[in-house]
Amino acid sequence: MAQLTTLQKLEVLSDAAKYDASCASSGTAKRHSVGGKGIGSTTGSGICHSYAPDGRCISLLKILLTNFCSYDCVFCINRSSSNVQRARFSVEEVVALTLNFYKRNYIEGLFLSSGIIRSPDYTMGELVRVAESLRLDHDFRGYIHLKLIPSASQELIDRAALFADRVSINVELPSETSLKRFAPEKQPLDIRSAMGGLKLRIDEAAAERERSKRAPAFSPAGQSTQMIVGADDATDATILQRSANLYGAYGLRRVYYSAFSPIPDSSKQLPLSEPPLMREHRLYQADWLTRFYGFEVDEIMDAAPGGMLDLAVDPKLAWALRHRGRFPVDVNRAEREMLLRIPGLGTRSVDRILAMRRFRSLRLEDVGRLVRSLRVLRQFIVTSDWRPGAALDGERLKAQLAPKPQQLALL
Ligand code: SF4
Repeated sequence: MAQLTTLQKLEVLSDAAKYDASCASSGTAKRHSVGGKGIGSTTGSGICHSYAPDGRCISLLKILLTNFCSYDCVFCINRSSSNVQRARFSVEEVVALTLNFYKRNYIEGLFLSSGIIRSPDYTMGELVRVAESLRLDHDFRGYIHLKLIPSASQELIDRAALFADRVSINVELPSETSLKRFAPEKQPLDIRSAMGGLKLRIDEAAAERERSKRAPAFSPAGQSTQMIVGADDATDATILQRSANLYGAYGLRRVYYSAFSPIPDSSKQLPLSEPPLMREHRLYQADWLTRFYGFEVDEIMDAAPGGMLDLAVDPKLAWALRHRGRFPVDVNRAEREMLLRIPGLGTRSVDRILAMRRFRSLRLEDVGRLVRSLRVLRQFIVTSDWRPGAALDGERLKAQLAPKPQQLALL
């Protein structure tokens, strides 16, 4: 087999990394990297976008160390039985590429994952060597996100977290039953105990850093995970409940949802087509509601047919339409909790409403200056000079407010 050049490896291994959503790449037109070149392209050569702990959007080189893998997870293009071109970077090649791209200002950091070769410990050791060399040999101050191998030794996992800003372990599927079915070599217990151990040590290190800034950082941007949506028959209710448990038990910063994409020569166990991308989008919106808007999963999913989120309207609007009796809400009097439940109001607008109304009574125009659009919002609020007309029932109001299909495509 002819030796691949570094550039050829980069094409193979950045393309192979595209299925991992745990480094968000929102806002790009295409999900694939090969062919996505050109001035201003955000998709060429594995550049993805993620968010730093301070909220900045940063570009990362997103690659696999290798797409050789001894496991045979049926949903994965890199599984051992898959007929794809294989490549493997050396540790030195990844270090050199990262430094080279960083110095040219193409990237602000690295997202590195890998197929499993030889053993979990061997693979984890190679990933750690990349991060260690970047930090210790080259004093690299950029962002590093390392994907961890849950069955690797705790010593290696801890070492990875010493050099990385963020680490992640994929739970892969919404239930352990599906994991056993689709990824029989992955052990749910290993995943749980690796995530649990990380949580403890991340919390301890954060407390230590509070006491002394000289204490070593230990994955200061926390841990995250990814779940594939639409490969099994899990409902949105099951997925969101699993996420709520993961956030609660392991203090995750993010659960990423990745809509299953059919792969070449896929197993008959898998669906033939992908779920609508809007499903992934609605799950992110619902996830956001549970983390920042005070919603419980049960509330978001109550009366949702078949345990699935409505694709036509966002989950907050869907909830408000099912609870017409709780609206309209007086923005000059309501508690923060209730303001957060009004469709069209984000956390920042709610805080500004609370600050402004201490000094004067708000009119519709005042609220309009805080939001992008009053079209939906005005149906759910009362201000000093506005009250919506005769209340429509939820279904008729939904027909009026739901985005048209062409608008949905832009969301
Ligand atoms: S372990 Fe499974 S999911 Fe990960 S690269 Fe190998 S086959 Fe793919």
